[in-house]
Amino acid sequence: MSEPTIFTRIFRGEIPSEILAETDNVFAIRDIAPQAPVHLLVIPKTQQYRDVAELAAGDPALLAEMVALAKELAATHANGEFRLVFNSGETAGQTVFHVHAHVLCGELTETSVG
Ligand code: 5GP
Repeated sequence: MSEPTIFTRIFRGEIPSEILAETDNVFAIRDIAPQAPVHLLVIPKTQQYRDVAELAAGDPALLAEMVALAKELAATHANGEFRLVFNSGETAGQTVFHVHAHVLCGELTETSVG
């Protein structure tokens, strides 16, 4: 069993962060360093997929569940419109190797996230 990622530790309650919403397989938190007026993270409860390509190949239904929760959150926390960003790999800005979607709402000024 690999070491728990920071997101697994948040979900277990070992690191404080409000769980904004969850489904059977996915949960959402606020990003600790927001890059947009609303900046949330949608994260699978399993940490078995490192990035979105692995997730899409291994469990496309789980990816669809993430997108559905992102849409709901954008409606609850903003006007329903949102950008989804998956940083994939270190040079692309990924720092946590437990796949997660950045859900960005509001006027955006930056093109990179994370
Ligand atoms: P990545 O850089 O891997 O695409 O995204 C990881 C994101 O996790 C970053 O935007 C970073 O701000 C966020 N993050 C890292 N540690 C924590 C934490 O302890 N709590 C929360 N809420 N977000 C975190």
